[in-house]
Amino acid sequence: MGVEPTIESYGMRIGGADVLHDKYLDTVNPYTGQTWARVPDGDASHVDAAVKAARDAFETEPWSMMTATQRGHLLRKLGDIVARDAEAFARMETADNGKLYREMLGQWRYLPEYFYYFAGMADKLAGSVLASDRQNFHLYTRQEPVGVVGAITAWNSPGMLLIMKLAAGLAAGCTFVVKPSEYTPISTIELAKRADEAGFPPGVFNVVTGGGVVGAALVNHPGIDKIAFTGGTETGKRIAASAAANLTRVSLELGGKSPNIVFEDADLDVAVNGAIAGIFGASGQSCSAGSRLLLQDSIHDRFLEKLIQQTRTIRLGDPMDAETQMGPIANEPQYRKVLSSIEMAKHEGARLVEGGEAVTDIGSYFVKPTIFTDVTNDMRIAQEEVFGPILSVIRFKTEEEAVAIANDTRFGLAAAVWTKNVHRAHRVSAKLRAGTVWINAYRVVSYMAPFGGFGESGLGRENGPDAMREFTETKTVFVELSGQPRDPFKLG
Ligand code: NAD
Repeated sequence: MGVEPTIESYGMRIGGADVLHDKYLDTVNPYTGQTWARVPDGDASHVDAAVKAARDAFETEPWSMMTATQRGHLLRKLGDIVARDAEAFARMETADNGKLYREMLGQWRYLPEYFYYFAGMADKLAGSVLASDRQNFHLYTRQEPVGVVGAITAWNSPGMLLIMKLAAGLAAGCTFVVKPSEYTPISTIELAKRADEAGFPPGVFNVVTGGGVVGAALVNHPGIDKIAFTGGTETGKRIAASAAANLTRVSLELGGKSPNIVFEDADLDVAVNGAIAGIFGASGQSCSAGSRLLLQDSIHDRFLEKLIQQTRTIRLGDPMDAETQMGPIANEPQYRKVLSSIEMAKHEGARLVEGGEAVTDIGSYFVKPTIFTDVTNDMRIAQEEVFGPILSVIRFKTEEEAVAIANDTRFGLAAAVWTKNVHRAHRVSAKLRAGTVWINAYRVVSYMAPFGGFGESGLGRENGPDAMREFTETKTVFVELSGQPRDPFKLG
């Protein structure tokens, strides 16, 4: 018998204080299968208290009177604290979602840049003076914070998904109530504590924990001005429908079924590497996973052979081990979903050429990297997001056919084009219906580059200059200059 692990208990964060509750949710380490932490399983009353705290903070001093430059200083401090504690954050996230420690550490070492970038953006956000067709009127616009933001996040990269919202929103002057995934709440709670340490006033960054019921209570709350959501497409649609009742603003970062297109003139070794990164990086649990690999007929067999060879060398194991290349699936329901998608693909006639089964002797929830060929784009395995290490290989003959297959999807999050032909690279990129296109690369993101989806992959953009718009309202101000009365019965 091993030693019983210590289970750490966390509170929610409301108005700068820990809030406990008599109902708890366990958070399970998907590698060991053991509970390692516990958070309150909140309810609507906690949402209410958190929204009130966020509203009070939004409307009162010191936050409401802080200059944008001062908000920028606080963001920079928080960035420094996150840089200081990157290793601790990476450890918590690996314990919560089973992703490789070195990937999470890389992410957490990069995340301070989001705070620094948006800190710089805070006091560059300005309205504009407009030309006026109205005599005696001066016209200008102001960019004002949208208000209290409800942020709801998924489990695959909890810190990153949150900071993509938080850094821009705080820079704009918003306050937050965050509902992290019930599977991975710890880093969010710890980040809220670091925000207190940085000097953010109590109530600016609140965290309520719990599952979909708490998320729905947040979406339906009349005190929320905007929902910023990352998660599955079906949840996103439900949120958009509920938010419509109060016309709460929404931005949605949802799922994908992204095409990774390899033309015959590509550097095949580099493209094989890109195909692996696209679908087996993070065990395929990435919204932008390159889950449809489109191979040109003339290189199909040669490429596949190299791909299978390299896939066989992938080392599965302990996500804390620096040698491991693929960790477990993040939680039990997702593990079951991945395994049932494999059965579905077999059933509809796709040919299994690699993997296709669970590995049970190294830890919980491991699935072998899996490749199906002879996939046609109308199969469910080519149309539905799996969110796991399952690759569908689809054959094409011409560039036109590749574009048609790539775009024949309800999603539109990302796509990649592998070719050495510069004309083709840009021509195809322009035709792809996707929020991000990589040319001769895969899975690259930047705080400077807008990220979001076409179609059912979402609404709105995070990162880059566009992100500030998502957290502001434009106000137009008309200033009468003559001081004379105007005809009260005439418009304009
Ligand atoms: P999910 O939709 O099941 O849950 C996401 C969050 O929504 C969780 O916090 C959950 O508790 C909450 N939630 C569930 N029901 C709700 C409801 N009715 N109202 C409000 N909140 C509710 O998604 P998941 O399984 O956590 O994450 C996987 C999905 O996230 C995949 O589809 C993936 O593609 C997507 N994702 C997208 C991006 C992106 O940037 N586009 C990034 C990461 C993950």
